[in-house]
Amino acid sequence: MLIRNILLGLILFGGICGCSSPAKQTSPLTPSSLAHRSSPKNVIIMIADGGGFNHYKSADYYNCGRSPCQPYEDFPVRLAMSTYPYGGSYNANLTWRSFNYVDKGATDSAAAATAMATGVKTHNKTLGLDTNDHPVLNLSERAKQLGKAAGVITTVFFDDATPAGFVIHNGARGNLTRIADDMVNNNSVDCIMGAGHPFYDSDGRPLQEPNYRYISEETWAALKNGSAGGSANPWTLVQTRAEFQALATGKAPNRVFGLIQVYDTTQQKRSGDAFADPYQVPFTQTVPTLAEMTNAALNVLDNDPNGFFIMIEGGAVDWAAHANESGRLIEEMDDFNKSIEAVIRWIDTNSSWNETLVIITADHETGHLTGPNSGQMPESPAINDIISNGPGKLPAMEWHSKNHTNSLVPFFAKGRGAEQFTETIDGNDPLRGPYIDNTDIANTIFTLWDGK
Ligand SMILES: [Zn+2]
Repeated sequence: MLIRNILLGLILFGGICGCSSPAKQTSPLTPSSLAHRSSPKNVIIMIADGGGFNHYKSADYYNCGRSPCQPYEDFPVRLAMSTYPYGGSYNANLTWRSFNYVDKGATDSAAAATAMATGVKTHNKTLGLDTNDHPVLNLSERAKQLGKAAGVITTVFFDDATPAGFVIHNGARGNLTRIADDMVNNNSVDCIMGAGHPFYDSDGRPLQEPNYRYISEETWAALKNGSAGGSANPWTLVQTRAEFQALATGKAPNRVFGLIQVYDTTQQKRSGDAFADPYQVPFTQTVPTLAEMTNAALNVLDNDPNGFFIMIEGGAVDWAAHANESGRLIEEMDDFNKSIEAVIRWIDTNSSWNETLVIITADHETGHLTGPNSGQMPESPAINDIISNGPGKLPAMEWHSKNHTNSLVPFFAKGRGAEQFTETIDGNDPLRGPYIDNTDIANTIFTLWDGK
């Protein structure tokens, strides 16, 4: 801090006297480079919805037979994160003393998205409002104030709680068409991608009659005829997988709404045995992968010379976990992991870790996933690790819930400002180690962007 103040003084002095100070000539200490030093140009938050420690680990075991094995598991900042909603708490000692402790007091994705996007805890089902129903500034809005681009992309319907919580303000996450209208019209974002298409079913087959559950007929018509967003800030609509793929390279429009041609999610709800091993049931080929969407979205948002904010969600990790579908959980985690690889490739090719901050985490754990033979025993709980059966084989694991839990979730960060998260540690969990809180994400990024 002291050094930064001295540098700031040098720059201000140079600016006021109008002379060319030696510091300016010998090092790149211009005001813009100072901002660059203190604050990330681009911020990428990646959320495996419902992805607890064992969800991440199950994909590692399936792919590598060991854990960790993903590039991000080597990120310099590796912590745990608490996720409870307003009025809740996390008690590390009780977690390991009573097996069922984490089954109570869990957040939903709306309160969690609000916490991560705004730094404010709120009630479940609430998006972007504090507990007095006042709207609170989110990271997309802050990015736009700073002249950056912003976007949200997901594998589930685009106006589900996680993406919506990074864009709009509404007291009821179920107000889907109203939320969709706000996302399209409130000018907080330049890129929205997800499922929720009115003309396709969960297998990507055309419907006889449209289903306007996720988007109103009026807003859909406006997106189709090009009037959505107004003449000053129009949306370009993309729908087919080929269009998503084509958007990854070359010159992209400044504003893109990508509505995937499927009803609710890319793959997890497709027909066939939902409890089959991973990849046994053929994938729907007409929808993009999350990595393809990621490549497209980054190519849109990087049009902005001031940088961007994006939230990338593996939304159906949660859905597979609610249904206790182990095979589809791994498919969804793999899809999420490949999108992380796409982000890392984009940084190495088009940006750098010196200007981009990447966070990989979850909004909560779903399914109370453990290793075999876990549960409350007379003396103390048995909380066993999942067991690898080698690459290409489902690990041995056990589900204990069909709902969310209050368990800690993983948190990885790398890039400009990442080390700042180690300053926000709230406690030390006996198994998971030091943990931050979900509100620390937005609050830390706001601080970094403010250059403090
Ligand atoms: Zn859920």
